[in-house]
Amino acid sequence: MFELTPIPAFKDNYIWLLRQDAAVAVVDPGDAAPVLDVLQRESLSLSSILITHHHQDHQGGIDGLLAYAPSAQVFGPARESITGMTHPLRGVERVRLAALDLELQVIAVPGHTLGHLAYCGADCLFCGDVLFTGGCGRVIEGTPRAMYESLARLTALPDDTRVYCGHEYTEANLRFALAVEPGNRALRHRADEVAVTRANGLPTVPSTLAVEKATNPFLRCAEPEVIAAARARGVTENDPVAVFTALREWKNLF
Ligand code: ZN
Ligand code: FE
Repeated sequence: MFELTPIPAFKDNYIWLLRQDAAVAVVDPGDAAPVLDVLQRESLSLSSILITHHHQDHQGGIDGLLAYAPSAQVFGPARESITGMTHPLRGVERVRLAALDLELQVIAVPGHTLGHLAYCGADCLFCGDVLFTGGCGRVIEGTPRAMYESLARLTALPDDTRVYCGHEYTEANLRFALAVEPGNRALRHRADEVAVTRANGLPTVPSTLAVEKATNPFLRCAEPEVIAAARARGVTENDPVAVFTALREWKNLF
């Protein structure tokens, strides 16, 4: 089984490094330098680069990594412009990373960007900027309905799936979640735990889908307290997509 470690980048990005013996794959290398540090220090060979979407903070390091490892495979969304992409994907494939003995299911999750992909294998979900721990990404290129359906595609995975997202946003996300659902005890408990983890300077990622389903308001649009919060913000229907849309707009201003 591979080892999985976060490489912090920029202010709050995580580049995920998967390692099996000397073979490495990275997810969303926005910056090459911190990845090259690890590869060179430990004489590792980079076999694969997995990209969830085209934003620079997720793909900006590809060039620098390919200069070090020219034969590395670059997986990414076919409909987006990704530097050096060798394996364009539509989000319906299974890909095999032979060097890591790992098979990944590729899932189309449009909403944050139109081609956004998630990769899932060995109970690990790499979901970029679609599902965040405690929240979800901004709807930039897609529609709120597309984003809602993308999140539903991810929550259909097994509950013990670990959620590896692209940013350390949990604390701020949970502050918003508490404004939506002050009566959610599991959420209050999680917010306390996360405060301690951050005070110790540790990552709050990964979480699990079970934790997200219990505490992430964007996955709870059919819960009475979440519906009531959306109604208080002017939503008149019980339609979960309308509730989701209202939450997302509220969070943009929160
Ligand atoms: Zn993004
Ligand atoms: Fe990002």
